[in-house]
Amino acid sequence: METLSIAKTLYADLVCSKSGAVYDKNRVQTYSSAEKPLLARYDLSAGLERGVLQGRPWNMWRYRELLPLEDEAYRYSLGEGGTPLFHLKRAGRHLGTPWLYLKDEAGNPTGSFKARGLSMAISKAAELGVRKCVIPTAGNAGGAMSAYCAIAGMEAHVYMPRQTPLVFQHECALYGAKVTLVDGDISDCARRIAGERQPDWFDISTLKEPFRLEGKKTMGLEIVEQLDWQAPDVIIYPTGGGTGLIGIWKAFEELEKLAWTGKKKPRMVAVQAEVCSPIVNAFAADAKIAAPCHQPGTTIANGLRVPAAFGDELILDILYKSGGRALAVSEEDMKTGLKEVARLEGQLLAPEGAAVWMAFRRLLREGWIQPEERVVLLNTGTLYKYIENLV
Ligand SMILES: *Cc1c(COP(=O)(O)O)cnc(C)c1O
Repeated sequence: METLSIAKTLYADLVCSKSGAVYDKNRVQTYSSAEKPLLARYDLSAGLERGVLQGRPWNMWRYRELLPLEDEAYRYSLGEGGTPLFHLKRAGRHLGTPWLYLKDEAGNPTGSFKARGLSMAISKAAELGVRKCVIPTAGNAGGAMSAYCAIAGMEAHVYMPRQTPLVFQHECALYGAKVTLVDGDISDCARRIAGERQPDWFDISTLKEPFRLEGKKTMGLEIVEQLDWQAPDVIIYPTGGGTGLIGIWKAFEELEKLAWTGKKKPRMVAVQAEVCSPIVNAFAADAKIAAPCHQPGTTIANGLRVPAAFGDELILDILYKSGGRALAVSEEDMKTGLKEVARLEGQLLAPEGAAVWMAFRRLLREGWIQPEERVVLLNTGTLYKYIENLV
């Protein structure tokens, strides 16, 4: 017991998600030579007692053994994570589903779950000596990166589509980031960065560095802890780059190895916007990778306007092996969902969360979800930043 109480990361190495090749964890790494994401691996063989969590603050850093930071002096935190898991009793009564839950990420610093990933990535980058960061963003990731770069004393460069709601643009500038507006979508931002990036700018694009994933993984750890270490039957997630979905699944795999939860894992559902649904199309075709969406239309769910996900293969693999689904939701339906949940539960969902709600309703109606099943819906951010999309 004594040795287990020493709070030290179990982070062991970095491996290519495709080939399993090992990369030096003591150097700044991006992605593998196979152009696939690198995954942090932990040495869980010695085991760890769930009791280590006792008394720790309710934020994502309570799981520090399962996070890659080695030197706590580099932890840059604004209190991310530790979000509520609401039991949606009124909505559940309305639909005849007594075990419906909402993991609500709206209360995170900078108003979205992106805070988890960026707190982790910036802390780890600082530990490895990075001084300047650059990011292409649909909005929330840019705000979060800017805030964490501010407290880490790092230079921040943010590339964002011109049509991103104003608050996303202004918050980055307020945190001291250099903001570049780009005509087009997040992939166009990435292309622009490729042309303008200075050699000492570290690219924080999701899954093109290994650690945003580790921050987002903590959503999965929290969900299981909040359900008293029982896996739910279904988790429904609004999928852009897919980092959250991959992270939640990674949490289940690590928790199973630690025997903190059983073998049961949830069926994972990816939800996209109809105007930009490369993962849904690939899933429908039973494909292993996703063809990019050409010229995506506009959506009120800015976080879902991702025409090409770098982690497409990982996302699809998880959907298949978990027995999950992928489905697309229309703009009209997102607006309907916003009103429904606001009126039933007094909760304002981000448009991405409203898409998840509508996907849940459809899967329930189709009978793919049974009324007695335990279902967790993800609301990934606050609606307040999107108000201009609704007027
Ligand atoms: C970024 C974002 C998403 C998509 O997240 P991924 O993990 O990249 O799929 C969903 N919702 C909101 C509010 C976002 O900011």
